[in-house]
Amino acid sequence: MEFEPVIGLEIHAQLKTKSKIFCSCSTEFGAPPNTHVCPVCLGMPGVLPVLNKKVVDFALRIAVAIGCRIAETSRFARKNYFYPDLPKGYQISQYELPIAEFGQIEIDVEGTRKKIGITRIHMEEDAGKLNHDPNRPLSHVDLNRTGVPLIEIVSEPDLRSPEEAGAYLRKLRSILRYLEICDGNMEEGSFRCDANISLRPKGREELGTRAELKNLNSFKHVEKAIQYEIRRQQAVLEEGGEVIQETRLWSPDSGKTNSMRGKEEAHDYRYFPDPDLLPLVIDDEWIQKVKEELPELPDDKTERFVEQYKLPVSDAERLTSARELAEYFEECLKTFPEPRPVCNWITGTLLGLLNAQGKTIEDSPVSAENLGGLLKLVQEDVISGKIAKTVFDEMAVSGKPAKQIVEEKGLIQVTDVSAIEEVVLKVLESSPKEVEAFKNGKKKLMGFFVGQIMKETRGKANPKIVNELLRKKLEG
Ligand code: ADP
Ligand code: MG
Ligand code: ZN
Repeated sequence: MEFEPVIGLEIHAQLKTKSKIFCSCSTEFGAPPNTHVCPVCLGMPGVLPVLNKKVVDFALRIAVAIGCRIAETSRFARKNYFYPDLPKGYQISQYELPIAEFGQIEIDVEGTRKKIGITRIHMEEDAGKLNHDPNRPLSHVDLNRTGVPLIEIVSEPDLRSPEEAGAYLRKLRSILRYLEICDGNMEEGSFRCDANISLRPKGREELGTRAELKNLNSFKHVEKAIQYEIRRQQAVLEEGGEVIQETRLWSPDSGKTNSMRGKEEAHDYRYFPDPDLLPLVIDDEWIQKVKEELPELPDDKTERFVEQYKLPVSDAERLTSARELAEYFEECLKTFPEPRPVCNWITGTLLGLLNAQGKTIEDSPVSAENLGGLLKLVQEDVISGKIAKTVFDEMAVSGKPAKQIVEEKGLIQVTDVSAIEEVVLKVLESSPKEVEAFKNGKKKLMGFFVGQIMKETRGKANPKIVNELLRKKLEG
């Protein structure tokens, strides 16, 4: 029997507000343990939470961006459970009345566009962190993270493969980063993903029993874990067994998922409206304001790049995958207004360099203006395309403008015909055997002669002139 995988993702995105969701403590990452805490986030008795308006504003941005219906009135609820990183004994979250529902995100997988439904977005507070001592049976509680704002974004079970799940994650992360509300760092935990997976016989409408996967802390692991889980469930079903509804932990070391606990149900949490917080009312004016301030989003930008700059969709998508990269591209065009070569240099050479150095476009050693300046020198025949790569490498080290490097290193292209002719003659004279072979039909030797001349001139001879002269001397 053939099975179809069904996948739904729950994303927790940490919002980049300066202060926590219900108190004024800092959200700064990496401070000494328990230094960003106060009676509210420590869960002392008798204190009252006050909602941070910025958190609502950020949640509205993503809700509006992905076309959600926004609740006029939403509520905070208490989700009750015990854990040492949760001093109050409950997490303030939203349950029955979340801030937003019914949105969608478009993904591209293997050239096909697909809409993935968004079930809901809700706001909640993060819990603290346990640091386990590797040498002793001891755990330390750090409550700096307690009360840091999160939004949970729940997708419909619309995804059908690990690749689709990966594409969805990347698109959502990109949108959150465009909106400047989450830095999307999976490794540091500011963008976390739980994956729900089930199988059903192909063609059947009804969903199968799902397992929920946790501990997926990189894009690669999300896809790998889902892949493993699909195979595991398939083996269970093929043996006539049943998939158990449970939470499973992905282990990157073994490449397997292992049962962690039976899946809890909502009623286990004894949700009830938080009596300390008023219902949250959002009027049209607020929504309107958020709409007006929305930046151009990745899909729109891609479309515009294809239209305006005549770029292939795949290149446009690459450039718009991060807002800063798209901005770098357009900044470059201000100095050198030719989209295709600029795109090629960015996606090829520059991203290759950044990748190798583990850098992002924000800390590119070559500024957009300087890259544009380099391409201009090539276009104006001041340097050859080959020398341009050398100059680029130098720019990456020193950060100097191309023109300065070319002048300092004497890399200006030789276009003086008589100077090049001298070298051509010298090379031909010193390679009589090759000249003979060329004249006897071994035309491939053209490359050899060009190479020798370039070596002599340290790459500076204008290749067009070199070719012309060689042809004249050898053939005519
Ligand atoms: P919780 O996991 O907190 O109980 P939900 O019931 O809302 O929350 O479901 C969470 C996620 O699981 C959603 O993304 C949803 O699309 C997905 N999901 C629900 N049922 C299935 C299923 N049978 N197979 C795969 N995914 C599912
Ligand atoms: Mg869940
Ligand atoms: Zn606090």
